[in-house]
Amino acid sequence: MRVLVVEDETSLAEIVRSGLVDEGFAVDVEHSGVDGLWAATENPYDVIILDVMLPGMSGYEVCRQLRERDVWTPVLMLTAKDGEYDQVDALDLGADDYLTKPFSFLVLVARLRALVRRGAPVRPVVLVAGDLSVDPARRQVARGSTQIKVTAREFALLEFLMRHRGDVVSKRAIINNVWDANFDGDPNIVEVYVGYLRKKIDQPFGRTAIQTERGVGYRLAADGG
Ligand code: CA
Repeated sequence: MRVLVVEDETSLAEIVRSGLVDEGFAVDVEHSGVDGLWAATENPYDVIILDVMLPGMSGYEVCRQLRERDVWTPVLMLTAKDGEYDQVDALDLGADDYLTKPFSFLVLVARLRALVRRGAPVRPVVLVAGDLSVDPARRQVARGSTQIKVTAREFALLEFLMRHRGDVVSKRAIINNVWDANFDGDPNIVEVYVGYLRKKIDQPFGRTAIQTERGVGYRLAADGG
């Protein structure tokens, strides 16, 4: 899942970013309302964490302008207890949920997952390709009735491939969505993780769901391989 964090307090932004990365989210961070609005308009995020008190343009204004531009990505607002606005304003102005600072990280993650579930009614609750199933809400992977244990990053990669099942996705698209747009490590990390996934969802079952399109990318077979 791809998340945008818009927060001007750099230390808080970094704590949230690194925590979400550990949970398997792909995270981009912006530190002002203007940059946040631009990023949220240009990129397909699954959810946005938006601070209210931002320099230049408030989170409320960012949210309002996003909705005006027909961007309906779920927004979780971060409000301050002593803020000049009421939390209810956040919901009136187009946010989908809010958390008051200081907040528990576990609550933040639970709320994000709930928002993504709720905010994507057109997506099936469970992603299915043949007998391969991925349940984003419960974070479960299965081949038929056999449950498969995967790490947070493997889950994120498999979920992304499943959402595009039948289509070839490039390594770059995978990195942008499963790692993040600023990832500057070795792009062969994708190959490594595809290898891990094959050992879990394909090889034990004698299947080949994840196919390599040489020089282009990867495709998850719509029939599950
Ligand atoms: Ca702030």
